[in-house]
Amino acid sequence: MESLHPALQGVLRAIENAAVQSGRPGAVSLLAVSKTRPAESVRELAQAGQRAFGENYVQEGVAKIQALQGLGLEWHLIGHLQSNKCREAAQHFDWVHSLDRAKLVDALDRERAPGLGPLNVLVQVNVDGEAGKSGCRPEDVPALAERIAAAPHLRLRGLMAIPEPHPDPGQRARSFRQLKGLFDALALAYPGVDTLSMGMSEDFALAIAEGSTQVRIGTALFGARG
Ligand SMILES: *Cc1c(COP(=O)(O)O)cnc(C)c1O
Repeated sequence: MESLHPALQGVLRAIENAAVQSGRPGAVSLLAVSKTRPAESVRELAQAGQRAFGENYVQEGVAKIQALQGLGLEWHLIGHLQSNKCREAAQHFDWVHSLDRAKLVDALDRERAPGLGPLNVLVQVNVDGEAGKSGCRPEDVPALAERIAAAPHLRLRGLMAIPEPHPDPGQRARSFRQLKGLFDALALAYPGVDTLSMGMSEDFALAIAEGSTQVRIGTALFGARG
């Protein structure tokens, strides 16, 4: 496998090093962010052993899901979700990370075909209170979580966030730590909660040090987006 995809092997090694350093060997998974990349690049990564892929746009994601059927891949929607796209999202994806308002809970629950099994969802938190950015306020997490837990076709798995890319790593670490606190409280209240999705190419080691269980990485795997 080493020879198949050196970038993947390098990223996996760096993730595991950070996990070991935080005292949690094997506890951090990789979500390969394939937005803007052709299906063929996803196939190469899949052939090297990567299973979980993240897409930002429903339409682009569905096209790749259909092109790569039969490879046993797991697809995560990580971009902002409009309510008129919930039907397609619920029919094709395995996970939605961008659940940030009650309306989406109801729409995804309604549109999930029961034959597919429950849709895994993460509540997206706008942890730094940035204007115009997706994600609910930290104080809105409990009410959203309660609504998700009551939805028969959804399964609450945890939290996702994209902290402000602050130049000061101390600031970023504080945002990650705040998310970890919210996540721990959620996991106490809901036994199925096991996923804290935080950390990208630039800051995944720091996110892991602060308790991330899943990092979402595009650039470090595929190169810079054009
Ligand atoms: C693009 C994107 C990523 C990956 O970013 P990189 O810097 O390329 O690793 C992760 N999460 C979300 C929500 C994204 O939109």
